[in-house]
Amino acid sequence: MEKLHFCERGGYLLGPTSSLWSISSDPSEFATPGDAAIVGCTNLRCRACGQQVQFERELPAGQDGRTYQCACRTYREDKFRAADDDDERDPALPWRCGGHSTATLPFDLDGVKIGRDTDFATLVRKTLAGWSPPSARPSEREQPYGWASKLHVRLTDTELKDAVSGAAAPLLSDADAFVRGAALRFFCEFPAAMETACIEGLLLGDRAPFLSQDPTVRNVAVPLESSLLRLLGRRIILLRERNDPDLPHLLELARAEVLRRDSWVQALYHFLWKADPDWLMANVKALVTANPEQWRDLLGSLSEGAAGEAGERIARLPGVDAKELESFARLLSAKDSRRQILAALGKKK
Ligand SMILES: [Zn+2]
Ligand SMILES: [Zn+2]
Repeated sequence: MEKLHFCERGGYLLGPTSSLWSISSDPSEFATPGDAAIVGCTNLRCRACGQQVQFERELPAGQDGRTYQCACRTYREDKFRAADDDDERDPALPWRCGGHSTATLPFDLDGVKIGRDTDFATLVRKTLAGWSPPSARPSEREQPYGWASKLHVRLTDTELKDAVSGAAAPLLSDADAFVRGAALRFFCEFPAAMETACIEGLLLGDRAPFLSQDPTVRNVAVPLESSLLRLLGRRIILLRERNDPDLPHLLELARAEVLRRDSWVQALYHFLWKADPDWLMANVKALVTANPEQWRDLLGSLSEGAAGEAGERIARLPGVDAKELESFARLLSAKDSRRQILAALGKKK
C-alpha cells in the first residue's frame, strides 16, 4: 500500500493567504514541524460523518475568512489553527488530516522542474546561497534554507529522498560562510538527514571556518559555531528518541564541548538538560568555572524546579555575581528553588 504522509497537529486550517501561509495546489504537500511556512491541509477528513472536508480554495479579495465544511459541521477560520488545537477559545473540531500521497516524479515546485535529471548539487548550492523561486511563499524565501527544506520535504519517500541532504552535506565546508551557515541551519531542521560521523567530523576537524559570524542570522551577532552546536544538540535528542547506540558517543563529544572555554556552549545547555541531566547537574560547578559568563544561560535552560539545586551549587563561585544571582532567584516562581538559592547566598527569603 502506498505510504501516506500526515500533516503535523492534525493539519492546519487557514484564513486568507498571508506572507506566512497559503493553501497548496499540490495534493502531496503536507505540513511538518520544520516548515518555513504554514501549509494548509488539503485532505481533512471528518471523524464524525466520514466525509472529506470541503473548503474555499480561492478567496475573493477582501474576504476575511475561509469556510470549511463537511456534512455535519461548518467552520470559518480567519487566521490559522491546527485541527487538533485544544485552545479553549476555539471549538474542538472532528477533522483530522487524512494523509497525502508521496510526490510523483517529475514535478514542478514553484516553477522549478524536479526529476531524476535535476542537477541537485547546483540547485541546492544556489538556494543555500540565498536564491529561491519568486513564486515560493514569502516565508519560505525569507530563510536561507527555507526553499531547500520545502524541496527536501516534498521528496519524502521518493527515490530522490536523499538528494537535497546529499547535496547539502558537502556545503557544510563551503568556502562561502553564508552557504555554510544555511547548510548548518538546514541540517538543524533535519538532523536525521545526516550521519553522526559527519557531525563528529565537523566537531573534531578544523573549527576555524565556524568561528566567523553567521551571515544568515540577521540583527544579532552569533558565530556559525552556534548552529554547529545546535545541530549536535538536535542530533542528540534524535538519537535519544531512537535509543540509538551512537548516543553515548555523541554525549561524550557534547560534554567535552560544554567544558571548553571559548566555545558557543550556551547552544548546548538546553539539549543536555534534556538528554544528560544527571551529568550536567553533577558538573554544574565545573561548567560555570569553565565559562562563568554563561551561568544565566545554564540556569535559565533548566526547569525552575531544578534551578534551585544548580543555583545553590554555583552560589559561591568566583565569576558569579551574588547580586545578579539573587535577582535571578527572586524572579523564579518556584518557591523552593528561590529559597534554596537565597539561602546559599545567605539572604533572607
Ligand atoms: Zn494534511
Ligand atoms: Zn462531518
